[in-house]
Amino acid sequence: MNTKIDSWDTRLLCVVTLVLFESYLDSSEIQAVTCISEQRKDLDNYAQSASLNYETFQRKWDELHAALLELIKDIEGKAKFECTQMIHSFKLENISVNLELINRMKQTKDVSFHVQMAIQDKVVRKIHGDNQYGHEPVFTEKLKYTLVYINEPTILACKLSMPDKSVTWRHDNKKVEETETVKFVDKKCNHWLAISQAHSTDTGHYSCSCGKSSTTAFLQVLENPLKITEDLHVATKDKDVRENMDIILCCKINLHTNKVIWRHNGKEIKCDRHHASFRQQEHQLTIQNAKFEDDGKYMIDFGAVTSCTTLYIKGNLNLLLKNQLAEDLYKNWVRGALGLKYLKLGLEAFSDNIVENHHSKILTTLLSTGNTCAKCSLEFLLPLHKKEHCPKPSKCLCSKQPRKRNKCPNGGFCSKFYDLILWDHRFKDPLLTNTNIQKWSSDPWSVATCYISTPGYEDRKSAKEVDCAGLLSIFINNIFFHRSLGDVEIDGETDLFKKVHVNIQLR
Ligand SMILES: [Zn+2]
Ligand SMILES: [Zn+2]
Repeated sequence: MNTKIDSWDTRLLCVVTLVLFESYLDSSEIQAVTCISEQRKDLDNYAQSASLNYETFQRKWDELHAALLELIKDIEGKAKFECTQMIHSFKLENISVNLELINRMKQTKDVSFHVQMAIQDKVVRKIHGDNQYGHEPVFTEKLKYTLVYINEPTILACKLSMPDKSVTWRHDNKKVEETETVKFVDKKCNHWLAISQAHSTDTGHYSCSCGKSSTTAFLQVLENPLKITEDLHVATKDKDVRENMDIILCCKINLHTNKVIWRHNGKEIKCDRHHASFRQQEHQLTIQNAKFEDDGKYMIDFGAVTSCTTLYIKGNLNLLLKNQLAEDLYKNWVRGALGLKYLKLGLEAFSDNIVENHHSKILTTLLSTGNTCAKCSLEFLLPLHKKEHCPKPSKCLCSKQPRKRNKCPNGGFCSKFYDLILWDHRFKDPLLTNTNIQKWSSDPWSVATCYISTPGYEDRKSAKEVDCAGLLSIFINNIFFHRSLGDVEIDGETDLFKKVHVNIQLR
């Protein structure tokens, strides 16, 4: 037997055993050696990643355990006890593997070296654990499993047995670097990793190591439970929602999600006029061209959390305004029409009176001569006044064709009548188409209509038969009327009657 058998690799040992002692072994022993040999081969494969998950390890260990027990069953005494203890402790012993060891192991795929490294690490640890030298710090307070919600701050804390030692933080074996949101804080023996805003990518195993000591714990970053930060409400400026308006309902939550259902009176909204949208944490529902049927309860449904508001659609503001405006216009129109009516009523009574007074006054003047006439015609009548004294030759009968005009044969009655009408006209411009000269002596209104500036007023018997504009025209043009009104100012240009007259004609 080679005395250096201890340094042999397990695989070589198995091969030698099988070749030299096969005939001395029973079938179960051969099977056990084969099992150990197979598992040794497996290790080479696992060495590629220097990892073996627990389930696989457990399954393989059961086979290996049985094989080892099989092989030591014939050993007696103290040796058997040591072997059995070794086999059991292998499974039960708490093996702590630090990152430094893992990294060292990853540098080679040779399982023999892995074993050496593991043993070396274990021995060194044991020595330090016994505190033989007392110079290596250990963690007296270890990292703890921590749960935090997204965007919330968190601190991972641990404590060393010695002060003022520098530590290395790792996240899933990657060295953690300080950033805007991640900071390292030390104070004597305490070490903290502070994260001001946790992200889901921060989830993982965190370790803090100092020399050969390290502590590891899991940090879980979870999505926040959804919360409403601003209840569902009408977001349009005008809270008074009305028909035909575009209405916006708004709700704010504490996180980003597109998993949302909008409901109207309990039913999911699927209408062309309704448009759901969201930007960041704000959700909106736009109701275009609102109708009365859009009235009711609105709900934004995030599943576990909901928010509601009730909408009362009022009548169209524009339409109401329009109606009101139309009403106002109508009122003004009615007021104007009534005004004219009252104006005319007032003018009528007064007009009839003055028209008669005026007529009487003219007749009184003329009758003193003892004459009257009802036979002359305007076509041949010559006024009494001389042409050279005419106030308005361009329009007066005294200048009109035919040349052969005569004074009224009845003592100049009609000629003088004409002159009196002419002198009482503010602008010396009576409109003779509005009159019948043969009625002058008997009909006051045949005289009055001469003072109306527009044609079409002949044969009126009273003020009732003359419209407001006609009456006003008489008030303006007939100086006798003016005199009868007393102090009222009439100049035919800026006076009250003229203003009203102009306004009436504009209508
Ligand atoms: Zn004349
Ligand atoms: Zn005459």
